[in-house]
Amino acid sequence: MNQLNRRQALQSTALAGAAITVGTFASTGRALAAEAAAPFTLPPLPYAFDALEPHVDAQTMQIHHDKHHAAYVTNLNKAVATQPALAGKSIEALLKDLSAVPEAVRAAVRNHGGGHANHALFWQLLKKNGGGKPTGELGKAIDAKFGSFTGFQEKLTEAAMKQFGSGWAWLTVDAGKQLMVEATPNQDTPLSAGRTPLLGIDVWEHAYYLKYQNRRADYVAAFYHVINWDVVSERFQKA
Ligand code: MN
Repeated sequence: MNQLNRRQALQSTALAGAAITVGTFASTGRALAAEAAAPFTLPPLPYAFDALEPHVDAQTMQIHHDKHHAAYVTNLNKAVATQPALAGKSIEALLKDLSAVPEAVRAAVRNHGGGHANHALFWQLLKKNGGGKPTGELGKAIDAKFGSFTGFQEKLTEAAMKQFGSGWAWLTVDAGKQLMVEATPNQDTPLSAGRTPLLGIDVWEHAYYLKYQNRRADYVAAFYHVINWDVVSERFQKA
């Protein structure tokens, strides 16, 4: 496997969970055992809990990853354990076609599976000393669609602020490679609407309340300082 393919495989496993990990790295007996017990696993945070300080505080990151994301994985595994027909399916495949998921677990897959996929992606989109703005193909596409990076930022901020209650604001791309800013409630993912999420802001209160309390606008403004545009740009190129 060349380096690019291996990197892509590693990236897709972060979203797809152990089901694909087992297929890609069949040599690891530990992964096989883990899959038999529970197909989806909590990916490790790709940086320290305090890496995003002062924009996102360490305690929030720890609880968000170790408790909230972990609970989505646990509850997703509980749901799929009752449905042998779902064995081996990646979380992306499940979320892209929720109508194919048995009704008995459809809501659980939508909520907990969405929570797992959204957070597995979210951690990758952030980094220490991130921010700035995208260059290259994505930078040009953003300028073409939104007039300027500032125009895009205003749209995304508006979507994040207007999402009533819990949910996400997204930059997505459709099958025709058209960019869109949108919001979803709860843990719904743009994947279920046929679009690929490139960038997502978690606007659940658990993502910001310890540091920002009711000041969602301050959290959203801080979020722009920790975006990993290299990852977002790569996702755009692969979409
Ligand atoms: Mn969250």
